Amino acid sequence: MATVKITLPDGAVQDVEQGTTPLDIARSIGAGLARQTVAARLNDRLVDANAPIRQDAALQLVTLNTPEGLEIYRHSTAHLMAHAVKELFGKEVQVTIGPAIEGGFYYDFYSENHTFTPEEFDRIESKMAELAAADLPLVREDVHRDEAIALFREMDEDYKVELIEDLEEDTVSLYRQGSFVDLCRGPHVPSTGMLKAFKLTSVAGAYWRGSEDNAMLQRLYATAFPDKKDLKKYLARLEEARKRDHRKLGRELDLFSFNEEAGAGLVIWHPKGALLRTLIENFEREEHLKRGYDIVMGPQILRTELWKTSGHFDNYRENMYFTEVDEQSYGVKPMNCLAHMLIYKSKKRSYRDLPQRYFELGMVHRHEKSGVLHGLLRVRGFTQDDAHILCTPGQLDGEIKGVLKFVQDIMGIFGFEYELELSTRPEKSIGSDEDWNRATSALHSALDDTGLDYEINEGDGAFYGPKIDVKLKDALDRKWQCATIQCDFTLPERFDLTYVGSDGEKHRPVMVHRVILGAIERFVGVLIEHFAGNFPLWISPVQAKVVNVTDNQAAYAQQVCDQLRQEGVRVQADLRNEKLGFKIREAQVEKVPYMLVIGDQEMEAGTLSPRHRSGKTLDAMTPEAFADFIREECRLYH
Ligand SMILES: [Zn+2]
Ligand SMILES: [Zn+2]
Repeated sequence: MATVKITLPDGAVQDVEQGTTPLDIARSIGAGLARQTVAARLNDRLVDANAPIRQDAALQLVTLNTPEGLEIYRHSTAHLMAHAVKELFGKEVQVTIGPAIEGGFYYDFYSENHTFTPEEFDRIESKMAELAAADLPLVREDVHRDEAIALFREMDEDYKVELIEDLEEDTVSLYRQGSFVDLCRGPHVPSTGMLKAFKLTSVAGAYWRGSEDNAMLQRLYATAFPDKKDLKKYLARLEEARKRDHRKLGRELDLFSFNEEAGAGLVIWHPKGALLRTLIENFEREEHLKRGYDIVMGPQILRTELWKTSGHFDNYRENMYFTEVDEQSYGVKPMNCLAHMLIYKSKKRSYRDLPQRYFELGMVHRHEKSGVLHGLLRVRGFTQDDAHILCTPGQLDGEIKGVLKFVQDIMGIFGFEYELELSTRPEKSIGSDEDWNRATSALHSALDDTGLDYEINEGDGAFYGPKIDVKLKDALDRKWQCATIQCDFTLPERFDLTYVGSDGEKHRPVMVHRVILGAIERFVGVLIEHFAGNFPLWISPVQAKVVNVTDNQAAYAQQVCDQLRQEGVRVQADLRNEKLGFKIREAQVEKVPYMLVIGDQEMEAGTLSPRHRSGKTLDAMTPEAFADFIREECRLYH
């Protein structure tokens, strides 16, 4: 019997019979390892765990507890789902493709007559469980493409036929499990018995191959875990995220809306939402003034010639909106930098004037593809808390450290933890090697000084310079991009910005683009989900709601409301002739922090009885005392 040499990752070499499978080797090491093995890397090529080994090779087992192993497990569960659907619906439904994705997998089906609904998920899951319990082996077959085309044509699987016709190879691989056969490169788990915990989560429409010109398919989303406990945990989190979805809460709390008549990805802020973001913006203005920034404002459209000078026209044109007036072309700003440079250039600068720090809550427009738009998180028009710092090369380190400290302060006030990343030069970029190296090392040294850990993303920088990205972590442990700090040696060059140094000579300033919260729209979206709509008092658009017990106190309640408003409390009155319990419940749904109950007793004593949205009640107090209390509570934040 011929043998082959297998080199394991620890360097050990085994002589095994030719035709031995990776799974056999896993078994020879231990039954536990065999149960965990879903596939293998043979000389770095992914293969099935039950693929016979024909020649000497380096072998690495792919186990369930690795991201790659989990992906194979989930993709194999996609086959199981397609198998179940075919068992249940037969030729009524055609199969297409089913990849693993972040958090799970999907499978796209075509059907002329059947529309999948969540009510059927149970039935499909039961069938999947039945097929998993049967422990069907997944068997790979390599066949000639013509044979595969004939096979799928006979089964009326038109999409599979089209897929094979587009392949260049003569030989294609099929995977069979029981009566089900699918075209796939693999690898897959050795048998369906390995697939233990799965759940269908949603159904959505998707075009075949992502093109609107093609047929509309039905995409069944699902997830799978090797362990039932992990599946349960994941589903609980998914449910929590669904409850906190900012689009749903945005509607319920009447914060904002989108309207196709106005245009996709363009936010319309309703009174409470507009007030919420105004509160955040006012806070930001104060914090910037405290740190030596100047508030500036530039125009919304600037001449296209200027965008050519800046390089945006060449590098960013496809994401910009343009308009023409009086035979003059203008670009709607996708970034706020240009006006800030014109402010710098408006007079002669000396080294004593530096650094200049220009801050603008600047609204920008960027054309995002319609497919990626997502509530407030991905929009086409948004406001950045943007600043540009122009300084001498010698000041760069200190300025970047100052921004990182600023980020730390602001994240602390909102109560977010965060992670830092450094992104280096991308393929498509402008500027010299020397500039890039200088900028990158300035960011490195500032990051090192924070004492915090940071990751490096090679090639992920902006086209005009390297950057630091800050990702905050929300209550569900999800990460969101907020602050970025970008060095730029290029724009000062292109706009010929200079300052007179202590030597009396002209020098080039360095430019830093930076945002702290990023896009206000996106940040509000993150806040809504993080707090599940229960905003901290200092940014709650409505801090208190006055509710009277009977009509008898209506006039007094209105007077209290007016008085509190005078004192700067954001307050509303609910004086409807409804039961108190009903009014309190409504205020709770609106997530108003305090309800101020007024009955005969309060009216006679000239007081109000506050009740927190958590159900906790405070002793009756005068309106003045309540206003002081609110001011004090808000001061605790900053
Ligand atoms: Zn597959
Ligand atoms: Zn900028």
